[in-house]
Amino acid sequence: MSVLEEVLAANEAYAAGFGDRGGLALPPARGFAILTCMDARLDPAGYAGLSEGDAHVIRNAGGRASDDAIRSLVISYKLLGTKEWFVVHHTDCGMEFFTNDVIAGLLDSSLETAALGPDGFTDVGAGPGSDAGHDIDWLTIADQSGAVVDDVSRIRAHPLVPKSIPVYGYLYDVKTGRLVEVPEATEAGRAD
Ligand code: ZN
Repeated sequence: MSVLEEVLAANEAYAAGFGDRGGLALPPARGFAILTCMDARLDPAGYAGLSEGDAHVIRNAGGRASDDAIRSLVISYKLLGTKEWFVVHHTDCGMEFFTNDVIAGLLDSSLETAALGPDGFTDVGAGPGSDAGHDIDWLTIADQSGAVVDDVSRIRAHPLVPKSIPVYGYLYDVKTGRLVEVPEATEAGRAD
C-alpha cells in the first residue's frame, strides 16, 4: 500500500468510529494551547492527555515562537478563549544539528534531501539549488533550555499577548516520554 492509500484507509476506519465528535464546539474545551515541535516522535495528544476538542496544538520545526506561531496563539486567546499556554521543545531536536548558514549552503547546491552523518548534513543530491534559503531565519537551536526561555520570553513580551496568560516552558524527553520543566522559562512566562 502507498502512503496515500494507508492514510485514506486509516481515515476510513477513524471516521467509522467517529461517534458524537461531530458535535464538538470550535473553542477548545479545556482552554489551553501548546506550541511544540513537528518532530514525528512527539505526540502532544499522548504526552499531554488530549482528546479531540480539548486544546490548540501549534506545531512547527523546533516549536519556535515564530511570527506565525504567535499569530496562532493570539487567535487562540483573542477569538477562542485559551487561558494558559505551553511551549514544549524536546531533547535530540533536529533543529540543533544545523545553523542558518548550513541549511542555506545545502540549498545553494541542491534542493534534494541531504544526508546526515557524524559530521552533520552533506549534500548527496543533484543541483540546481537556490540561494533563497539565505533570506530565511530558520530558527535553529544552539541551546536546548535557552531556546525555551527565549521563546517563552518572546511570547510574554509581545504587545498582543495579555499579561494574564501564564506561559509554561518544558522540554519533552524523547527517551522517557516525560515533560521536564525549564524553570527559568516558566518564571519568564509568569502571568501578572
Ligand atoms: Zn524538534
